[in-house]
Amino acid sequence: MRGLHWFRNDLRLDDNQGLAALAERAEEWLPVFVLDPGLLARSPVDLPRTRFLLDCLAGLQSELASRGVPLQVLEGRPEVVLPRLARETKSGIVSWNRAPTPLGQRRDARVEAGLHRAGVEALVLRDHTVFAPDEIRTKAGGRYSVYTPYRNAWWEAWHREPRECARRSRLPKRPIPGFAGRPSAALAGIAPRDTTRRLPRGGEKAARRRLSSFLAVAARKYAVDRDRPDRDGTSRLSPYLRFGAISVRRCFTEGLHTAQAEPAAKAGIRKWLDELVWREFYHAVLAHSPHVLTRSFRPEYDALAWLDDDGAFEAWKAGRTGYPFVDAGMRQLRATGWMHNRARMVVASFLTKDLLIDWRRGERYFFEALVDGDPASNNGGWQWAASTGTDAQPYFRIFNPVAQGERWDPEGRYVRRWVPELRGLSAERIQAPWRHGEPPKGYPLPIVDHDLARARALAAYRKARQPSSSARTRSSR
Ligand code: FAD
Repeated sequence: MRGLHWFRNDLRLDDNQGLAALAERAEEWLPVFVLDPGLLARSPVDLPRTRFLLDCLAGLQSELASRGVPLQVLEGRPEVVLPRLARETKSGIVSWNRAPTPLGQRRDARVEAGLHRAGVEALVLRDHTVFAPDEIRTKAGGRYSVYTPYRNAWWEAWHREPRECARRSRLPKRPIPGFAGRPSAALAGIAPRDTTRRLPRGGEKAARRRLSSFLAVAARKYAVDRDRPDRDGTSRLSPYLRFGAISVRRCFTEGLHTAQAEPAAKAGIRKWLDELVWREFYHAVLAHSPHVLTRSFRPEYDALAWLDDDGAFEAWKAGRTGYPFVDAGMRQLRATGWMHNRARMVVASFLTKDLLIDWRRGERYFFEALVDGDPASNNGGWQWAASTGTDAQPYFRIFNPVAQGERWDPEGRYVRRWVPELRGLSAERIQAPWRHGEPPKGYPLPIVDHDLARARALAAYRKARQPSSSARTRSSR
């Protein structure tokens, strides 16, 4: 039997469920990546996310080439080009891993129908998360909308049925003879690496190295260091998980093995694995409540009267709000396509509460600017920060951007790294330079007064929560 494997957000050979399932059925195969015209329209090539994807694709291509397997990069709509290649190669089966988003799932259904019409079998596996959204249910069979009970149920499920990663990659025996690699004309001339920004190196090898070095060193202190953007205390695996350059089951399996072998590392690793469970949780939330992509998870907050302050939005994007910790986060994002989680929480709170700007604008900008931009986690993070989501921070808990900086960047090293205008300031002055006289030349005064902004946000949130406001929103839907 001959088959094709359609690579998407699973750009690796290791522990790839769809590929392993194909290996059970097909002796000869070809790997395919489809450049959907919609993909480059939605994700122009200079977005960090697209660059990273291309770098992962280049890595995959060389992994495959070292095994003598030529990657086919096709251009066109997958529901058209995949059945065509299946016919051309006389393949009876096409495997892939199920898309994690509603948009992707609709496209998958069209591809499945197209293959069905061509008499080709679709072999669709779940790979992107450890458990499928429907596998983690409450005792009464319902869905979780709060993280902690979800996490407990998730670990119970793992202990009942650990989903460890495969010991070695399973691939079909050999490539279909007579087919050379097919490069893409659309990608010709585009270097996968971007030298203007400090984006991480893509690919499976880089991901595995990162996991090993994290587990060997930083994981031990993760419980303490994870909130410190001035330290290199987290794994930075998010873009690799986003594009499947590493298997999430491998992260759990290796994490648990390390924790077992080294009791001193146990607390840090358990905390880290719980963060990966957040990722699973947000994927489940998106699957069960797809309305979150456009509306608040909690409908009462659809009545919030956001402000359309374009000037403030631009200052936030440029890292020129006058709040050094916020500006450091936004400039780290612009320079590297990544931002530390603590900074993400603080800049998102600042946008939605201090500036009272709609979380959807922040979510869109993050999705464009992040190398790990992921519909489920990004939406979950934004709705959490805006207090409109599942596990939301209560609306009255509003981060103070100065106090956050003083607490999580106590010596000001993070700010000094990303906001060069403030490099000469002492730790005492750096998080609120205006309190000690004029800020250094070129650095702005705060664009809002936090105390006044806080009072304004509380009033707006309280108003939205009044029953009459929510009823108005519901009836106008
Ligand atoms: P680690 O601390 O090493 O954590 C390991 C992995 O766990 C991460 O790689 C990630 O896959 C997962 N994880 C950790 N924290 C979270 C979380 N809060 N929610 C979901 N998964 C988590 N993460 C994304 O992957 N893509 C996004 O688009 C994204 N947008 C966010 C937007 C906002 C406003 C906020 C507050 C958070 C967002 N996050 C997003 C979650 C989190 O900030 C990143 O996953 C994390 O900073 C990635 O760094 P790391 O790999 O070093 O994480």
